[in-house]
Amino acid sequence: MEPVTLQDVAQATGGVLVPGSAASIEFSGVALDSKEVRIGEIFWAIRGERFDGHDFVHEAIANGARAIVAEDLSFGFCSVPVLIVQHSRSALADFAGWYRRLIDAVVIGVTGSVGKTTTRELIHAALSVKQSGTRSPQNFNNLLGVSRTLLSISKRHRHAVVEMATSSPREISTLSEIVSPDIGVVTSIGEAHIRGLKSVTGVAEEKGDLLRSLPKHGVAFVPSTAPAFDRLTADVEAELITIGSNPSADVVARLVKFDGERLIANIEGSEVRIKVAGPHMLSDVATAYCVAKRFGLSDEEINHGFDSFTPLSGRGLTIRRKPWTVVDDTYNANPTSVRGAIDGLIARPCAGRRILVIGDMLDLGEASTVGHESIGQYAKDQGLDVLIGCGRYAGHFAHGWRQAGMDAQCPVFVCDSASEVFDVLRDELTPGDVVWIKGSRETRMERVVEWLDDFN
Ligand code: ATP
Ligand code: MG
Repeated sequence: MEPVTLQDVAQATGGVLVPGSAASIEFSGVALDSKEVRIGEIFWAIRGERFDGHDFVHEAIANGARAIVAEDLSFGFCSVPVLIVQHSRSALADFAGWYRRLIDAVVIGVTGSVGKTTTRELIHAALSVKQSGTRSPQNFNNLLGVSRTLLSISKRHRHAVVEMATSSPREISTLSEIVSPDIGVVTSIGEAHIRGLKSVTGVAEEKGDLLRSLPKHGVAFVPSTAPAFDRLTADVEAELITIGSNPSADVVARLVKFDGERLIANIEGSEVRIKVAGPHMLSDVATAYCVAKRFGLSDEEINHGFDSFTPLSGRGLTIRRKPWTVVDDTYNANPTSVRGAIDGLIARPCAGRRILVIGDMLDLGEASTVGHESIGQYAKDQGLDVLIGCGRYAGHFAHGWRQAGMDAQCPVFVCDSASEVFDVLRDELTPGDVVWIKGSRETRMERVVEWLDDFN
């Protein structure tokens, strides 16, 4: 972060300085966690569900905080300047939006139903070959995370890739106001957060707000076959570039080969090679390629950048290859990403059986029953050998699987808990099998991965 003064923060947030506080005090970092404060930073006290930052103000000062932003003086007297704001979380967003306008980096906003983090990392890997830049850390993609990402950009950065997520209407619009992106990327439109966004059309409209926020000279990258495409792209003033495998896409990306580890794609006649979880990530790769091209990178530079990309933990990472292959895709699950996982599993070379272990897909609201059944059916139709469902909706996975045709060679299991899944796998696994494990975050299917990592 570039140095700013407390006066700047007051101006950006409409906050009021406590009498006696020096407005001219400078700082070059914001900390929300009193344990992570570095000397000379500002400590921003936020009231969360589990912790109240106001209770840690004195610890933050002891660790070197130079000033405090807070909602009130509930922490009593303190020895450093204090700025009082109405609501510290939204004040941080206001400040981040103000700060973003100080910096010259090209800001790339990334949203979509699945593939945001993967695409963000791919874009950053490609661009970093030639220039200094930054991107959202971990899964920082809500108002707080986006604000923190913006505040981490410095003048030496030429790009910043900012992940932007939503679970209810107008969130992307709010985020776009503070991010003020130059380039907008929609990775996919699918069935994620349907509970809050109601329908796939609602998802498209919501994600489209990122594209509508772009300036005329900006660029919007979208999947050519996105559902509700018209709603997604209505009233977009920026240049629109569609990416897909269909010949009518502006940029045509086709799979050449996937050997279980490395994907080779043909994008507009150029060969791109990269280690990813499967062909379902082709669209993420193609989008990152297109963004990098916009920055003037050559094919060679992009491939070089992609070489530094390491598949992300919990997002299709192969953690073991012998005597059976185990793929950890437990970070999250919704119908769109589970279909991707099934496609990825089918594309894997496999000497034994292809087994999907799948926990509940939460956040589907009223679409839960039909959503789980249709995944069971899709898994069977695509040719998986074994399905092991785990959790409340396991029976619905199984129902869909059976509806696609009963077949003694292709068993389906309904488990209540991870330990029941272990019992099934103990009996079923044979050398050469590929086991792909997935489920919504809250289902903690990584317990199965950990167990399989040790199981011989
Ligand atoms: P979140 O909303 O949780 O932040 P995200 O949009 O950032 O998710 P990732 O973290 O990149 O997405 O991936 C989430 C899941 O979707 C992972 O299981 C990953 O393997 C899968 N995935 C990534 N890209 C695609 C894609 N293009 N198609 C289908 N599935 C994908
Ligand atoms: Mg993410």
